[in-house]
Amino acid sequence: MNIVLMGLPGAGKGTQAEKIVEKYGIPHISTGDMFRAAMKEETELGLKAKSFIDKGELVPDEVTIGIVQERLSKEDAHKGFLLDGFPRTVAQADALENILDNLGKKIDYVINIQVDKGVLMERLTGRRICKNCGATYHLVFNPPSEDGVCDRCGGELYQRADDNEETVQNRLEVNIKQTQPLLDFYQDKGYLVNIDGQRDIKEVFSEIDKLIGSSR
Ligand code: AMP
Repeated sequence: MNIVLMGLPGAGKGTQAEKIVEKYGIPHISTGDMFRAAMKEETELGLKAKSFIDKGELVPDEVTIGIVQERLSKEDAHKGFLLDGFPRTVAQADALENILDNLGKKIDYVINIQVDKGVLMERLTGRRICKNCGATYHLVFNPPSEDGVCDRCGGELYQRADDNEETVQNRLEVNIKQTQPLLDFYQDKGYLVNIDGQRDIKEVFSEIDKLIGSSR
């Protein structure tokens, strides 16, 4: 099962991705996570990506496409994959078609989780993440039992540098502008499935699960 998960920042991609990979046993390939890991380790890639990410801009295509190509060639991606946060531009989508062609694969579904912009602003600025295990919380919608402490592992919660109000505005605008041509691209190919993301996490997952399960 080869899936691309789409949706603006805060649409719930990460949450749904976690559930999909757990149920279907495929690797979760998130370019955002890969960049954050590289930044934490201060690798060459991390330093390059940081200057763009901190401003809420996209990392250049040639850098992003390179890391995805390398990741998709790994053994564990042979049984399927879930791409999260990639592609973000038509150039990346074109490159992905080429990469998959060369590997003898194709995309099964592009799942687009739809959420209004106002709701996304509220969700993103209230988001908090565990420094230790990466679990996500929301100050209003999904607060931890104890302020600033992860329920799962006791780690310290923090706000991502790119989740402050000004950067979120910029991220959303950049993303909305970039996303439409991409949705058109996949609509034309017949891969696109829109899912209403303004519902309970479980309801959203249930619809995705039905879709994936029905075609196995
Ligand atoms: P995310 O966790 O998916 O919201 O990604 C965080 C940041 O990483 C984005 O705001 C971009 O700066 C960068 N990034 C992640 N995926 C991509 C991509 N496919 N193309 C360009 N930049 C990306």
